[in-house]
This record gives sequence, structure tokens and C-alpha cells, in this order.
Amino acid sequence: MIILDGKKTSADLKSEIAESVKLIKSQGKKTPHLAAVLVGTDGASMTYVGAKVKACELVGFESTLIDLPEETTEEKLLQEIENLNNNDSIDGFIVQLPLPKHIDEQKVLMAVNPDKDVDGFHPTNVGKMTLDLPSFLPATPYGILELLERYEVETSGKHVVVIGRSHIVGRPMSILMSQKRKAGNATVTVAHSRTKNLKELTLQADIIVAALGIAEFLTGDMVKDDVVVIDVGITRVDDATKKRGYKLAGDVHFESVSKKASFITPVPGGVGPMTIAMLLKNTLLACENKE
Ligand code: NAD
Repeated sequence: MIILDGKKTSADLKSEIAESVKLIKSQGKKTPHLAAVLVGTDGASMTYVGAKVKACELVGFESTLIDLPEETTEEKLLQEIENLNNNDSIDGFIVQLPLPKHIDEQKVLMAVNPDKDVDGFHPTNVGKMTLDLPSFLPATPYGILELLERYEVETSGKHVVVIGRSHIVGRPMSILMSQKRKAGNATVTVAHSRTKNLKELTLQADIIVAALGIAEFLTGDMVKDDVVVIDVGITRVDDATKKRGYKLAGDVHFESVSKKASFITPVPGGVGPMTIAMLLKNTLLACENKE
């Protein structure tokens, strides 16, 4: 069994990005600049945004954090987005999700200039991705592709079962893996909350991408020998032994599944760090596109 080490792979990627930034700077070109908009004080969102800003510093990007209070109106947020769209020094920006309930998430994502949409959530980028045209790929599925490629996991002709159909993970993952690409050419089944015979499907799968958000859902009896398992889930589970009072759990019961798997991602240290690295890669691309 081989661990797909997202921590190491993302560190490699960040070094490569840092090298590119050095080169850009030495040529007197503009330093890539990522902005992140955070609304409210959700603990997990604050952690994610903090990690993204820190990663920018590490690779030599400029970063801007726009920290807005929970009670920010939709109108005010849309104004902030318009300002970012018009700000030439910002190459790309993200709006950290979820947003407070009184704000229409779709309306906000639609307001982002697709050329600066480094999360790849705007319909223009989703459409381009679906048609296999150059676009910003959503960071989490993009990170999974990168991990599969770098570990040379064979995907062509394999049966992939993606559990989850969200717009940010499951759906794009299923589209990308069915396309003609290195980590692609697979036959893909998308399972979701209404799927009836999930265990029958997962037992047939050569590769499983678990992205449903239920801690340790996928167990050893649900997978066949030599399966490749990508665990996207991050759930906070109470744990009195930890100083912070919780631990992070994936969607996969690691102990039982890893006994059968040929490759598996851990949680933490698997898909999570890759997501941040790919966001940086998209920002670099946004900056280069502008040049
Ligand atoms: P979501 O809640 O938007 O979607 C969950 C999906 O799972 C839905 O499509 C639903 O139909 C499906 N589902 C729910 N219960 C199911 C069941 N019993 N059987 C089969 N399918 C079921 O979640 P999301 O935003 O896609 O995130 C999924 C998980 O991945 C969460 O734990 C989230 O925190 C994590 N996540 C991690 C990263 C990362 O960088 N590692 C990035 C994004 C999301």
C-alpha cells in the first residue's frame, strides 16, 4: 500500500511555483497577487483562509485578505467583488464559502470576473472545463488529478466511483476523470445521497473518490483488493484528548480500507494541502494570462 502524500507533493508544487515567481520577478514582471474574501467568523473558514494567505507568502505571492463582518449585506459584498474585479493589481481572488445565510451564494459567485475566478466556480469556467477548454480547474479536483499523475496511478479504462455530486468536488471530479487526459479516460459512476446500491458499486470500483462529508463512511468491507482511494472529506469530530477539542476525520475508515488499498490518501495530509497548492497554481496562471 502506498500513501498518496499530499503534504509532500504540495510542498514540491509550492517549490516549483516559488521558482516561477523568482523568475517572474527577475524579469521585472508583476508579482502574482491573490485576494481572499472572508465573511463572518466561521472557525473552519478562518483556518482555510489563513492557510491560503500563508501559502501565498511562502511562494512569494502578494496576498490581500478582505475580512468582512457576519452582518455584511449582499449589496456590500457585491460592491467588494466589483472593486476586486476592477483592481488591476489583483490577479485572482476567492470568496470563501459557505457565506452567511442571508447572502445568495450563486449571485456572488456569478459576480466574479471569470478571468480572476481562480476557484473555477463561475459558470464560464465550469463550461470551459466541461468542454475541455483551457480554464481554471476547481482546486480540489485539480489537486486530486495532480496527485494521481505524480504517483503515476493508472486511470485509463478504470472504473471510478465518485461519492458526492457537489459543484466544487464530486461533479467536476466526475467530469474531469472521464475526459481524455493523463489522469482520466476512466469510466465514471457518480453516487450521491439517493444512490440505492452504493456498496455494490464501490465493490466494483478500481478507484473511489469519497467526497460526501460523513466521517469514516467508507469501510473495508465496501472495497475490493488493490483499490485506489481518494479521501476528500474533512469533518471535525469531538476528541477530548486534543487540545482544540476535536480531530479531523476523513470520509474513509483508514484502518480497514488501507489494508486492501494499493494507494490511499490520508486525512489530514492528503487532498487538503493539494487544494491550496492548486489555488496558487491557478493564481500564477491568472497572472501569466494577464501578461
Ligand atoms: P456537499 O455537502 O456539498 O456534498 C456532499 C455530497 O455527498 C452530496 O452530493 C450528497 O448527495 C452526497 N452524499 C451525502 N450523503 C451520502 C450518502 N450517504 N451516500 C452517498 N452520497 C451521499 O459536500 P462537499 O462540499 O462536496 O464536501 C464533501 C466533503 O469534502 C466535506 O467533508 C468537505 O469538508 C470536504 N472538502 C474537502 C476539501 C479539501 O480540500 N480536502 C475541499 C472541499 C470539501
